[in-house]
Amino acid sequence: MKKTALVTGGAGFIGRHLCSHLLSKGFRVVCMDNFITGSKRNIEEFSGCSDFEFIRHDVTEYIDFPGRLDYVLHFASPASPADYLKYPIQTLKVGGLGTHNALGLAKDKKAVFMLASTSEVYGDPLVHPQSEEYWGNVNPIGPRGVYDEAKRFAEALSMAYHRTHKVDVRIARIFNTFGPFMRLNDGRAVPNFIWQALNNKPLTVFGDGSQTRSFCYISDLVDGIYSLLMSGFTGPVNLGNSDELTILEFARRIVRITGSRSEMVFEPLPQDDPKTRRPDLSRARKLLGWEPNVSLEDGLFRTIEWFRAEIVSS
Ligand code: NAD
Ligand code: UDP
Repeated sequence: MKKTALVTGGAGFIGRHLCSHLLSKGFRVVCMDNFITGSKRNIEEFSGCSDFEFIRHDVTEYIDFPGRLDYVLHFASPASPADYLKYPIQTLKVGGLGTHNALGLAKDKKAVFMLASTSEVYGDPLVHPQSEEYWGNVNPIGPRGVYDEAKRFAEALSMAYHRTHKVDVRIARIFNTFGPFMRLNDGRAVPNFIWQALNNKPLTVFGDGSQTRSFCYISDLVDGIYSLLMSGFTGPVNLGNSDELTILEFARRIVRITGSRSEMVFEPLPQDDPKTRRPDLSRARKLLGWEPNVSLEDGLFRTIEWFRAEIVSS
């Protein structure tokens, strides 16, 4: 009998790749989304597939699913800073109420529960690189607090359901991930810079561009998520790529790879924008034997080709 996985946020960037991966592994997939930041277009290629079901639903409302479920993967949440600044209350609700409903569903179905958590639980980190033992440096009342605190609450709630109700929990702390099917205008560095470079417009570097990030290609992330899901490990696990670079250098690479004539413009740094970020991947390596293996150049090349085609067809 096929295993069934319900993916909340399945019509978003990561959710879409996760649905695709689970279908390729022989799962039945139930994708649940309200399209606040995702789209029908992301999942249209699965519409003819008998193992795929889409349910349009806001997961901050009670989730009623009649059939058997083996896995509940809770990925619903705005994830781009531009999106969660635009939808602050929806972001808090999906991290709080949405996580509560998804955990309640997993408990009822005796399903394995996975939370899509984030490197943002470390805030603007005072420890570098960030390992799972670090408790973070988050401003609860700043504009980013709506996302960071919602995810921290979601982690706490997941652990409470594990301790109290014995729900089999996984917590993936996901670091910056990119690839095809990101929304062209979602406001994150990757789609912004690629769109700007392909249109020979100036790349908008926030601050002086000295803040660092480490970007992971989507296929590596999805492999890590799947390994973690199957692992039986309950505590948080960092998933991402540990190749760190400054945002200014990142912007320059995109200009170089696209062959663009774009220059850089410097714009104000958003409040509480983390100054550094790089995952310590020791736990993932040891527990899952997992390691990202797509280089930044390769990942960017594939993503840029996809964006190029999107721009032509739009
Ligand atoms: P995304 O915005 O592309 O996808 C999120 C999806 O959730 C969208 O389809 C959206 O419509 C859906 N959604 C939001 N609120 C909902 C609600 N109340 N009910 C139903 N559906 C809802 O973002 P993404 O980059 O694919 O991120 C997916 C998950 O991974 C998020 O939980 C995010 O916090 C986490 N994450 C992503 C990254 C990254 O780099 N992409 C990094 C860390 C964590
Ligand atoms: N950034 C930038 N220009 C943009 C978009 C983002 O310089 O047009 C910077 C942003 O300030 C941050 C980094 O790029 O330092 C990554 O931003 P993103 O929104 O992709 O994700 P974050 O890591 O902040 O969650």
